[in-house]
Amino acid sequence: MKIEILGCSGGMGLGLHTTCLRINQHLLIDAGSGLGQLSQEELLAIRHILITHAHLDHLCFLPLLIDNLFEHLEQPIEVYALPEVIQVMQQHIFNWQVWPDFSTLPTPEHPVVRFHAIQPDQPLVLEQLKITPFSVQHTVPTCGYHLISEHGRCFAFTSDTTFSADLVARLNQFGPLDALMTECAFPNRMQDLARASQHLTPMLLKQLLSELDHPPQQVWLSHLKPSQTAEIRDEIQQLRSASQLHLLRSGEQFSL
Ligand SMILES: [Zn+2]
Ligand SMILES: [Zn+2]
Repeated sequence: MKIEILGCSGGMGLGLHTTCLRINQHLLIDAGSGLGQLSQEELLAIRHILITHAHLDHLCFLPLLIDNLFEHLEQPIEVYALPEVIQVMQQHIFNWQVWPDFSTLPTPEHPVVRFHAIQPDQPLVLEQLKITPFSVQHTVPTCGYHLISEHGRCFAFTSDTTFSADLVARLNQFGPLDALMTECAFPNRMQDLARASQHLTPMLLKQLLSELDHPPQQVWLSHLKPSQTAEIRDEIQQLRSASQLHLLRSGEQFSL
C-alpha cells in the first residue's frame, strides 16, 4: 500500500496544504488543498474519494476537482461519506449557488460524481483494500478510516479528533497497526481550545498512545496549526512514547 501525503497542514501558507492522502493511484482520503499537488493526468486517475467530515479544510478542492474533470471523465467519481456529511455537501456546496450540483450533470442518469452513504463499522472493499470507517469525536459528524491491504498491511487515519475512550477502544479492536496517522492541532497551553474544538494536543496524544494495547511502530502526525508548529514540535519531541512519532510534510510518500 503506497500512501502519499498530498496535504497535512492545519492551515495555509507557503508550502502548506490541507488534508488529502492518495492511496495507490486511484483512491483519495479527503480532498483538502493538498489535492492541488496532482497533475491533470493524476487527477484523471482518481476513482474513489473517502471524505472524513464536512469541514472545509478536508473537502475544499472536491468541487474544483469535479469541475476540472467534467469533460474528461468516462465514469463518475465515487465519493463516500457519512450520510450527514453528504447532506451538508449537497445543501451547502453543490446547491447551484455555491457550485453546480454535479451529481445531476450532465444528466441525472449518468452523472460525473456519485455520493455513497457509508456507516461506521460497515467495511467496504475498494481497489483491493478493505476499508472500515470508524466514528471519532469531533465537533461535527466525523469518521476515520482503517485500511487493510491485500498483503495484510494495516493503516488507520483518525482524521480530526480529540481523545476519547471510544477511540482507544475502537483502535484496540482493530489490533496491531503498521502505521497510525492522527492529528496534533494545538500545543498543550491551548488545551481548552483543543477540547472545545475537539482536537488533540501533545498531552492528549500521549494519553491516546499510552492506552493502546498495541502501540503502532509508526505514528504520523498532521493538522498542526501553522502559527504554533514550532511549539507543538518541541512538545512532541519531549514526549516519551513507545512509538516513533513523525511530523508529516506535504509530498512525503510511504510504502506499507
Ligand atoms: Zn475538522
Ligand atoms: Zn481539519
